[in-house]
Amino acid sequence: MPSGDRIKTIVAYAHESYSEHEGGQVADYIPQLANADPSMFGITVADASGGLYSAGDADVEFSIQSISKAFVYALVGEALGHNVVREHIGVNNTGLSFNSVMAIELNEGHPMNPMVNAGAIATTSFMPGDTPAEQWENIRTGMSRFAGRSIELDGAVYRSEIANNQRNKALAGLLESYHQITGNPMDAVDVYTRQCSLLVTTRDLAVMGATLAAGGINPVTGKRVISADVCRDTLAVLASTGLYERSGDWLFEVGLPAKSGVSGGIVAIAPGKGAIGTFSPLLDSAGNSIRGQQATAHLSRALGLNVFASNVDSARSNGDD
Ligand code: GLN
Repeated sequence: MPSGDRIKTIVAYAHESYSEHEGGQVADYIPQLANADPSMFGITVADASGGLYSAGDADVEFSIQSISKAFVYALVGEALGHNVVREHIGVNNTGLSFNSVMAIELNEGHPMNPMVNAGAIATTSFMPGDTPAEQWENIRTGMSRFAGRSIELDGAVYRSEIANNQRNKALAGLLESYHQITGNPMDAVDVYTRQCSLLVTTRDLAVMGATLAAGGINPVTGKRVISADVCRDTLAVLASTGLYERSGDWLFEVGLPAKSGVSGGIVAIAPGKGAIGTFSPLLDSAGNSIRGQQATAHLSRALGLNVFASNVDSARSNGDD
């Protein structure tokens, strides 16, 4: 990573460069998300020693949505181990949208990967806890350890989604018919919907990502959240599946394991170096934030973070700016 002053300048420039972009749409299939302010745009870069550099709406809270899948997967991976998560949840991209029913049918009932809804609901069903309430509390406290502060539920987003998530309930029921989910599938959907409704800022996303970049130790609190092995496994899954069916485009352009969510957040992780959290609710047709993708691509180049680049100079020259 460059020096702190240099990172600050680069982050400010990235924010300024993309703040005028107005294409895309806010998610509206969860009614509460349709109320998002499309002008919001925040960026935070965290380095692996806990330095934080922000621009724009970096302290505005939004529901984490699908980005929760990455961190719950890490918590479940810690509890179950490498082989069990690979066998029961899978690590391959479905190539289909995040809420696809067809993906389950095409794969003989296997959820295939934990970063789309079916696989994420199955992952949540494996979360340790004797009751759904205990599973939920373990998720909330586990994700709070990643963020380095106690993060809380947005009740309005949770209620809005739970009243409109017939499709996720159908996915869970289908998984149950194939014996690919444990416990009561509707309980798993409820806990999953809660985890998606946790409120975070780009600062939180950057710290959570930097914890994965730093081998499982939160660089701000100095406390271990998960093992280095689980970080490695989680980042491998994010590289191939973090931006749904656009993960190949993302890896080609940005070269970082990442995870997006439909409220407009993206977290991108540079192993050993740090992480980038962005927030802008205007989405492309796959449900990925447009300004978030643009800003992260720019930052990956300017900070020399692309994991496939052999050196910083080639990272900088790989792209259009
Ligand atoms: N809670 C959302 C859902 O299950 C999350 C989807 C997303 O962010 N892609 O539909």
